[in-house]
Amino acid sequence: MSLGEFDVIKHYFTRPPSQPSVVKAVGDDCAVLSPSSGKQLVMSMDTLVSGRHFPASATPYQIATRALCTSLSDLAAMGAKPLYFTLGLTLPDISEPWLRSFSEGLFSIAEAFGIDLVGGDTTQGPLTITVQVHGEVDFGKGLMRHQAQVGDTVFVTGSVGDGAAALALLQGELSVGAEAETYLIDRFYAPQPQLIVGQQLIGVANAAIDVSDGLLADVEHIAKASRVNIMLNVEKLPIAACLQTVDNRQYEAWALSGGDDYQLLFTVSQDKLPQVNALIQQQVISATAIGQVNAMPSDLLAAGQWVTCSLNGKPYNYKTKGYDHFAP
Ligand code: ADP
Ligand code: MG
Repeated sequence: MSLGEFDVIKHYFTRPPSQPSVVKAVGDDCAVLSPSSGKQLVMSMDTLVSGRHFPASATPYQIATRALCTSLSDLAAMGAKPLYFTLGLTLPDISEPWLRSFSEGLFSIAEAFGIDLVGGDTTQGPLTITVQVHGEVDFGKGLMRHQAQVGDTVFVTGSVGDGAAALALLQGELSVGAEAETYLIDRFYAPQPQLIVGQQLIGVANAAIDVSDGLLADVEHIAKASRVNIMLNVEKLPIAACLQTVDNRQYEAWALSGGDDYQLLFTVSQDKLPQVNALIQQQVISATAIGQVNAMPSDLLAAGQWVTCSLNGKPYNYKTKGYDHFAP
């Protein structure tokens, strides 16, 4: 028996909401939600296209976890608490095993992070998944990209380069041991959104962003928005142990230019450093200092160079190092 659109929504995307602020979720013309007073709503949308944002070989479970985890990462970058999400689903056809697995993956992440699915749209066409996440922050407290200050220390959570290494693995260009494979595949399909870190950084960090485009690109986003120069110390980049043995320091390129890491990059003024270091020591957050925020000299401004890299105190030209590995 083939299912219609409404059966699909009912069977696979309707669950009782976990939050009392959800007055009406899936099933009416709109969701009805009661925002908390004194909070600001933050929202973000991401679209994943088959073959472009995930390999055609990805399982429906993996596609779902990746879609929701990467969207939640944007809420983490604002220091927001996740509340609700909507799901735009374009399917080539209706396959129950596919939907079952997708729905399981989706709700496993939704439950883990306390976010309710409150609506969406289901259409027929090439496989495409759009997730819009909604969260809240205390009024005026959300972390933004544009407030990095000269003298700040730059931190990144977890390790960088895993996303690009995972992609290389999926494309058959990297061979690592079985344990490392499992680690990388997990980092690719279920990158854990750094929500706790983001929330802990409210009132502590000056600027924050999640690393999705690649560390250099995302450092540049903060630098440009804040009109500062950021010095990155390449030797300090946190690299997963399983990647440090890969030939040719390939991990440097993955870490700098790869993207898809979904870690948080943030800047902290000197007077707040003891707070961050205490959070790190108490293992509330895992983060590494990787650079400093400097004033933007006029020559670099004229050259449009927002990020400067050094390796063990010497200038490091990432354009000839990292980027080459990715040249067509
Ligand atoms: P309408 O025609 O009023 O826009 P739809 O027929 O598109 O409504 O959807 C019916 C209900 O199901 C709505 O509440 C909508 O938000 C929800 N919905 C549709 N697709 C999805 C989905 N993929 N996930 C969650 N909710 C969905
Ligand atoms: Mg509709």
